Amino acid sequence: MRKKVISIVVILTLICANSCLSLAAKDSDTYKNKANEAASNSKKAQEELKEVKTELNGALQAVSEVSDQISDVESEINTLSNKIDELKNSISEKEADLKQKESLLDERLAASYMNGGTSPYMDALFSGGVVNLVTNYDMIKQIAEYDNNLINEVKNTKAALEEEKKQSEEAKEEKEKKSEELKSLKSQKQAKVNSLTAEEKEIQSKIDEYDAETKKMKKLESEALAKEKAAEEEARKKAAASSSSSSSASSRSSSSVSKGSGQFMWPVPSSHSISSPYGYRVHPIYGTKKFHSGIDIPAPTGTTIVAADSGTVILASYGYNGGYGNYVIISHGNGYTTRYAHCSSLSVSVGQQVSKGQKIAAVGSTGASTGPHCHFEVRINGETQNPSNYV
Ligand SMILES: [Zn+2]
Repeated sequence: MRKKVISIVVILTLICANSCLSLAAKDSDTYKNKANEAASNSKKAQEELKEVKTELNGALQAVSEVSDQISDVESEINTLSNKIDELKNSISEKEADLKQKESLLDERLAASYMNGGTSPYMDALFSGGVVNLVTNYDMIKQIAEYDNNLINEVKNTKAALEEEKKQSEEAKEEKEKKSEELKSLKSQKQAKVNSLTAEEKEIQSKIDEYDAETKKMKKLESEALAKEKAAEEEARKKAAASSSSSSSASSRSSSSVSKGSGQFMWPVPSSHSISSPYGYRVHPIYGTKKFHSGIDIPAPTGTTIVAADSGTVILASYGYNGGYGNYVIISHGNGYTTRYAHCSSLSVSVGQQVSKGQKIAAVGSTGASTGPHCHFEVRINGETQNPSNYV
């Protein structure tokens, strides 16, 4: 029964721990996610914009084509109008001609039926005396026929012109209908252009918003990152201080930190020389007489650095770090800590348990350094010791 209660408590604790962890999600991650989301939305909107632009170009092309068609049809209508006007003129000319010819004929005919008339027919009929009467009659008949033919010819021409005019008017009507259709089509296409233009504008403003959001979130992210880094640094310092102080209180029972033996192994297995010993020396960069807090072990960049003893990593930091460059601090318990500086890369992280001889970093020349080497320190309760006495 008691066991059951304990396991329930354990489970509840675990659940709490998990939910607490998720609640404590870093602000920088939240902003990063938001920045990524906004950037992805912007990208999607840009794709959408591309499609709308393509569609808009198509619609503009259509409007331009329909406009061309309209102007072609309008020009055809114009040509037909001119033609119809010309035909109207020709027809009225023919009408006038006809009228003249008909009235002339009427006059001739009327005169021929009247006594003592002086119509050309009569003149012709009686010219040359009675002997020629028959011949003259034939001639008159021919003149009449000629007149009639002339009239008919004009009539036919006029009829042909009228037919042509009718056809032209029909064609013009058709073209006008076509023009109306095209105009309505053009206004449809223009409406499409207008709506696509509005859509384009809307998407563009969305993209601008997303981009501004991305920028804002990135700024918040880097601000949060800086804060988090400062807080981490603070925590590391506290951890280092408490590890030194807790170890100094030898009566205190051990925590999870491994107990150090004070027996350290050489931290760079492949290189055993010392280019700069512990103690006062002229600093190679600052040129001043300075205290050297550790020993320098020269080795090519990338050479393996191992933990001098088992322990807990209490600091693993990339950066200049006050001249240490990328460096690691391992706490070995009993107040012992070791430092490994100027590394090119770090293989461990804060809180990690390491065993003696385990690879923790690689030799480099980061921080205040003139060439690749491992700066190795041994400290007891935070006070530097001569590492040569321990390795
Ligand atoms: Zn050094």
